[in-house]
Amino acid sequence: MQFKEVIGHEAIKKSLIHEVEAGRVSHAQMLLGPEGNGKLSLAISFATYLLCDTPAKGDSCGVCPNCKKVSAFTHPDLHFVFPVVANKTNKVAYSGDRIQEWTAIIQKQPYFNLKQWQMHLDEMGKNAAIGVEESRQILKRLALKSYSGKYKVMIIWMPEKMNNQSANKLLKLLEEPPEKTIFLLVSNAVDTILPTILSRTQIIRVPALKPDEMTEYLTTKYRVSEEAATSAASLAQGNVAEAIELLQGAHAQHAFFDLFVKMMRAAYKANPMDLMEVSEDAAALDKENQKNFLKYGLHIFRESIILNYMKGELVNLQSNERAFLEKFARFINNQNITELMEEFNQAHYHLERNANPKILFSDVVIKLTKLIKKGV
Ligand SMILES: [Zn+2]
Repeated sequence: MQFKEVIGHEAIKKSLIHEVEAGRVSHAQMLLGPEGNGKLSLAISFATYLLCDTPAKGDSCGVCPNCKKVSAFTHPDLHFVFPVVANKTNKVAYSGDRIQEWTAIIQKQPYFNLKQWQMHLDEMGKNAAIGVEESRQILKRLALKSYSGKYKVMIIWMPEKMNNQSANKLLKLLEEPPEKTIFLLVSNAVDTILPTILSRTQIIRVPALKPDEMTEYLTTKYRVSEEAATSAASLAQGNVAEAIELLQGAHAQHAFFDLFVKMMRAAYKANPMDLMEVSEDAAALDKENQKNFLKYGLHIFRESIILNYMKGELVNLQSNERAFLEKFARFINNQNITELMEEFNQAHYHLERNANPKILFSDVVIKLTKLIKKGV
């Protein structure tokens, strides 16, 4: 990763480069600031710059063998430490166990938070930490001679997740660092880091991004309209990870709406070809979205009932949904609401237990053809 790929933070990039040009690279630096502002990207770009054979003014070259190895995450002198989850089968978990997933998430999109990292690992809600096995591995890795003859760089993401034992081991390393080794700590929160570690690092404060800095990245990377990107950027208040989550949520809701409308139309017409097509569309979603689509359908059924029986109380709808419901709501009534909700709830239940989605959705749409005409 090169500096030019990192959104904003021009003054910080300049001062990092200046450290190298002046021959005053501090052996322990902490990039500190709010979540989702690109601190990790800055650290990786700086590591690339430190390892590059021919850095030009303002950035690494991007083409020398060292740059290429860094960008492929195969450079032997670049090490990563990050929180992982220990479990029954892997009690001594450390970063090395999850390096492939780590590489994949950064290559896909380097602005992410701890929650998104755990989602990526499929380990939501579990306790992610940098444990004591990690510090053993750090010592082992840093004992190796530098491969390139230049610096060895160790990026530690979220040092606030270190337990006391591993933090104390790191402290010893910071006090007596191995030769030509640079530690780059990337943190959202100082209050949970040992003060003794803080006092050993040079702190670089990285502020939140400005919304207009994020907009261009969001429009090019996610191919959304400038309006959608601007709105997500301003809601997320400088947090790119959160802006992306907002955009993906809005995108999914649009897709669910289109699919729901298509499904209800097919059910009403009861044309076998249309029914087959729409059930295949639903089955083509990934498993999480199949379940989310069913929840979305339940939400629309509920809103239809509210519109029918408590006119004017609709609050939880977008304008396209509202326009659709003006016509659609009359099909949802006392005669079928219980069965419709039951059908979608049951489908959700069976998906969680690994039912075959193709069979499941074709079953759902066939039942819908009968239910949708009840009571009209
Ligand atoms: Zn290079």
